[in-house]
Amino acid sequence: MYKKLFIPGPVNVADDVLERLSTPMIGHRTKEASDLQRSIAKKMQKLMYTENTIMLSTSSGSGLMEGAVRSCTRKRAAVFSVGAFGDRWYKMAEANGVPADKFSSEWGKPTTPEMVDEVLSTGKYDLITITHNETSTGIMNPVEGIAEVVKKYPDVVFCLDTVSSMGGTKIEVDKLGVDICITSTQKCLGLPPGLAICSISEKALNAAKEVPNRGYYFDLLNLYNYIQKKDHQYPSTPSLPHMFALDYQLDKILEEGIENRFNRHKEMAEYVRAWANKHFKMFAEEKYASNTLTTVKNTKGISVSDLNKELGKRGFMISNGYGDLKEKTFRIAHMADTTLEEIKELLAIIEEILAL
Ligand SMILES: *Cc1c(COP(=O)(O)O)cnc(C)c1O
Repeated sequence: MYKKLFIPGPVNVADDVLERLSTPMIGHRTKEASDLQRSIAKKMQKLMYTENTIMLSTSSGSGLMEGAVRSCTRKRAAVFSVGAFGDRWYKMAEANGVPADKFSSEWGKPTTPEMVDEVLSTGKYDLITITHNETSTGIMNPVEGIAEVVKKYPDVVFCLDTVSSMGGTKIEVDKLGVDICITSTQKCLGLPPGLAICSISEKALNAAKEVPNRGYYFDLLNLYNYIQKKDHQYPSTPSLPHMFALDYQLDKILEEGIENRFNRHKEMAEYVRAWANKHFKMFAEEKYASNTLTTVKNTKGISVSDLNKELGKRGFMISNGYGDLKEKTFRIAHMADTTLEEIKELLAIIEEILAL
């Protein structure tokens, strides 16, 4: 039996979107392929509020995260971490021999503009990575304040992980001055996993030109040069099924209305937060709570794994806590095409199981 997923990726995918994955293949070096990829880029620019070039990668989001830190760090990267995905970005830098330092916040707390200012004012760094929405803790970082600070340092390439928030909340890439903004298909965009998307600025590209060893598959400069020269085609064979589905899903997103979509996410988040506060507690500092998923502190000492088993029998699935937080928290995603009605249904069933 298939379960309705309330986990922070992969998310439920609508049947009509799934059908697009079985579109008959086209040659990846044809005009149709260029048209498809150009069409996706135009729509992604709207969703991301950017005029920067959009690049697709047949990988999950991690591929582009690795590509960004490797391709664009000239001197040293400042990696800000508020949880598991910030930590991952630091491990990527290390694994690629990219000089980097990690600046961690306690789990459940944000990266603050003051922290960023203090670090960048040393002049040691020319690239920073920020997790916009930390999926392990349910924190949404104060990106506007951080962006204001980063603007004081024009040599610094600003990389933003929006894997679990792009398409679910407003992120105005150009206004924020984000140089590389990264997301994946399987979270707020409501598609199956397997494709990553980023926007890239002139500044990031110029930085990459100064980096001699950018790797190969995730060399962002190479990707960029190729899609410029070959009208949106890619150096290697891309996942065309994902592209058919993404192009279609973006039409649906634009039809819903971007603002409506963001409001729906906010409504769901507010509902889940109120529920969490009533029966448990929030794990994230409330002011920075995510609009796309909620991490609930398991103050009642329930067995999260038993809860999920019971939910499974009824056709639902939520997420346990991340890593060490496995039984100490549980996570409810409210992203992509999920509706408030579905959230209410899920929470009512949890109440029934736990006899709350
Ligand atoms: C899921 C996630 C990632 C990893 O993305 P993949 O597409 O699984 O590689 C990175 N950052 C955040 C915040 C995520 O939620």
